Amino acid sequence: MALKDITQAELNGKRVIVRFDFNVPLDKEDKTKITDTTRVDLALETINYLLEQGVSKLIMMSHHGRPKGKVNPDFSLEPVADYLAQKLGQEVLMTEAAVDVGLKELLGLNSTKIVLLQNLRFHPEETANDEGFAKKLANYADIYVNDAFGAAHRMHASTYAINKFFPGNAFAGLLLKKEIEALDKVLKSPAKPFVAVVGGAKVSDKIKTIERLLVNVNNLIIGGAMAYPFLKAMGHEVGTSLCSDEDVALAQGILKADKGKKLSLPIDHIVSNEFGGKPETCDSIDIPASQMGLDIGPKTITQFSDIISKAQTILWNGPMGAFELSDYNKGTFALCEAMAGSDAYTLVGGGDSVSAVNQSGYAEKFSHVSTGGGASLEYIEKGQLPGVQALKFGV
Ligand code: AMP
Repeated sequence: MALKDITQAELNGKRVIVRFDFNVPLDKEDKTKITDTTRVDLALETINYLLEQGVSKLIMMSHHGRPKGKVNPDFSLEPVADYLAQKLGQEVLMTEAAVDVGLKELLGLNSTKIVLLQNLRFHPEETANDEGFAKKLANYADIYVNDAFGAAHRMHASTYAINKFFPGNAFAGLLLKKEIEALDKVLKSPAKPFVAVVGGAKVSDKIKTIERLLVNVNNLIIGGAMAYPFLKAMGHEVGTSLCSDEDVALAQGILKADKGKKLSLPIDHIVSNEFGGKPETCDSIDIPASQMGLDIGPKTITQFSDIISKAQTILWNGPMGAFELSDYNKGTFALCEAMAGSDAYTLVGGGDSVSAVNQSGYAEKFSHVSTGGGASLEYIEKGQLPGVQALKFGV
């Protein structure tokens, strides 16, 4: 079933409530300052479209951080309201709470047009997917829109339960639609060779994704701290590199499943005596007992770049090393460069890889840079997301 989006909705004169992902990082000292506005900027396409179509009320809602069901000014959406007002050149009314008796009255006033509800997660009912809470939110509007791709893997009141109250009137926003289309392009009809590149540190989080990808891809490149459990499971020495026994066991399972020998692992490394210490090249697969791997080595860069250069579709999640440190960012940036220079359809997801792509200066060269790390991994693994399922079928 195709995803219905706002271009198929009759919007003129309607009250529209939209779930966005305004979970932006704030300055540690000055909690009124947004340090990266990307998530709000990417929502503007949907916001502007709705306003151009003549909606009578635009009610926006989002979570911000993890206040755990309690009011906490550190997680207020006030900075987002200020930023939006500045971007739209219009007043954005910020409410004191997401649900409140006075709110319906306020929305009844002609002068109230654009509203941002305070952080949904100040209410424990949001993450509990509470129907009563969803109903209160639903009461504000005639039409529901979900544009929060980054939260679409959550079964929460504002992404899931709320759909029930909008039969035939629940639509995808433009960003959500774009994200799902990009993932479908890669997962459902990838031009071959299809190469997946998986790095980072959270093996247990990504293991199911790797299992699923192994079926579809021609090559699966594994780098970053992700690689060491695999090398250890193959009988190599990994020194003091990040590598838990649990992850080695998980890696063993994947190696057994890799009948087509699709996996590519590092053949050399950049190592150090300690995290962030002086870098040295380790010219072998095995890492000496006193050292830890912090990046892929030069031979591995050549080998991985060669595989990437032949690909027609590339999916990337997770850096090749501790790229936040300038001594250990070469592998990650070299692969960014290789992907940016290829003719393949390139999709990158996951907070760290996206920030690496932005830092590398090659972001423009990627076909799609996803805003949702967790959501994109879950979509790859399961082929669906609760927030998207609910939009299609109601709940
Ligand atoms: P993830 O969230 O799983 O994508 O992991 C990203 C994090 O993994 C980044 O903060 C990297 O610094 C870290 N990382 C990647 N490779 C290594 C490594 N070899 N040793 C330690 N940390 C690493």
